[in-house]
Amino acid sequence: MIDFIQTDASRTAENAAQDHFIPAEAPWSGVVRRGQTIRIEDSYGQQAIDTLFYKADDFAERYSNQDTMREQGAAYVGTGTRIISNEGNVMLRMTADSCGRHDTSAGACSCESNTVRFGHGTKYLHACRDNFLLEVMKHGMSKRDIVPNINFFMNVPISPDGKMTIVDGISAPGDYVELVAEMDVLCVISNCPQINNPCNGFDPTPIRVLIWDATPGTVA
Ligand SMILES: [Zn+2]
Repeated sequence: MIDFIQTDASRTAENAAQDHFIPAEAPWSGVVRRGQTIRIEDSYGQQAIDTLFYKADDFAERYSNQDTMREQGAAYVGTGTRIISNEGNVMLRMTADSCGRHDTSAGACSCESNTVRFGHGTKYLHACRDNFLLEVMKHGMSKRDIVPNINFFMNVPISPDGKMTIVDGISAPGDYVELVAEMDVLCVISNCPQINNPCNGFDPTPIRVLIWDATPGTVA
């Protein structure tokens, strides 16, 4: 299991450079500059937060779940994880995590996969791929730029035979992760609207994103 490491106590909402409220089921995107720290907070608990990262001045370089897992030798992300790009570069480092369980294997929900998993009647429910598409289009990207993502706070145990199941989340209200950027990155979030499995406690809720400016020594 991953260590629980709390935030630097000097970091408060009052001294954050940015403070964003993201409604239930909504997307968000913003740039995190090199040296800045982004906190992604599961404000009400048991909320999956689907997240992608792109190099801010070259979107062709983006988060790679395969490289991140291989480099770490770990199936999950947590404190100390280096978020690796498809070019093999470190995009961000996870510096705090009050939850301890985050998936990067199960991908984002889509209308198509909902139909396969939960029946045709779910085809018109809102899904993360729609959120991602709405958000990446603001930056000139399209469907082809949506790659396998991180699901912060989503609980996906992997059994010894390799099977994965999405089960009840373990995040409590106010749980958070923090990542310090090693390069300027565009962060794209889908506050997951899924209501057919327990990834959001069957009740999608708002989340919060805070960004702090660089403090000396945070980036080598
Ligand atoms: Zn989703």
